[in-house]
Amino acid sequence: MAALRSLTELPPSTCAQIEGVLCDIDDTLTWEGRLVPGAFSALHRLQGAGLKVVPVTGRPGGWVDQIARLWPVDGVVGENGGLWAYMRHGRMVRRFVQPEAERRTHRERLEELAQTILARIPGTALASDQAYRDLDLAIDFCEDVPPLPPEAIDAIVAEFVRAGATAKVSSIHVNGWYGRFDKLEGCRGLLRDAFGIDLDAARHRWIYAGDSPNDEPMFAFFPHAVGVANVRAFLDRMDAHPAYVTPSSGGHGFAELAAHLLEHR
Ligand SMILES: [Mg+2]
Repeated sequence: MAALRSLTELPPSTCAQIEGVLCDIDDTLTWEGRLVPGAFSALHRLQGAGLKVVPVTGRPGGWVDQIARLWPVDGVVGENGGLWAYMRHGRMVRRFVQPEAERRTHRERLEELAQTILARIPGTALASDQAYRDLDLAIDFCEDVPPLPPEAIDAIVAEFVRAGATAKVSSIHVNGWYGRFDKLEGCRGLLRDAFGIDLDAARHRWIYAGDSPNDEPMFAFFPHAVGVANVRAFLDRMDAHPAYVTPSSGGHGFAELAAHLLEHR
């Protein structure tokens, strides 16, 4: 595994070619549970410089709705790629990777699985935002419960896998779902729908910023993936690492990334 390069090594020639920034939210735009003001204003400045800006998160459909409508962004991918939303001519467009009947069947299976996980792994809880989720089940290990040890996180993942679900670990939740999608699939869908962009052909012209194992498909795919400094805590849980790392953590690191990009354009 190559060592992570410093953000300052992201070349000006690359910065000049970037068309858009995709970014995780939790612990990438936030820090200690709060949106970092400098990161939020960075989204606005990136957009103002003509870049497309798209948060890509494990957070629920209900949050995606609010962010797509209110934030300075061009669209949002939520529930780890299961759905996306964007504004077109002042109206919201929402898309899901699975048809409604399939989502309903999966929902019933996940509700059963939730009972099993909460009963078998002490200290876990449903994520506080579970009510606003459309496709996935989020088990809290760190957000509104006292932090659980790595063995408990592994045990949650094992329960999802045993039940035939996909599981991804973020910095606060384990998210699990039925069906083959991830953050990268959701980005492909949103960029195709909203902008007619073929992400596979354009990957060299997009930045991805993230911090944890649910960002791994993105770190593997984007040659210019950037981890905020706190990604270091998760490196040994990931096979794919970002190419670059910021000096600071969370949203403070994202603001550094935006400043570097804008300075070299
Ligand atoms: Mg994160």
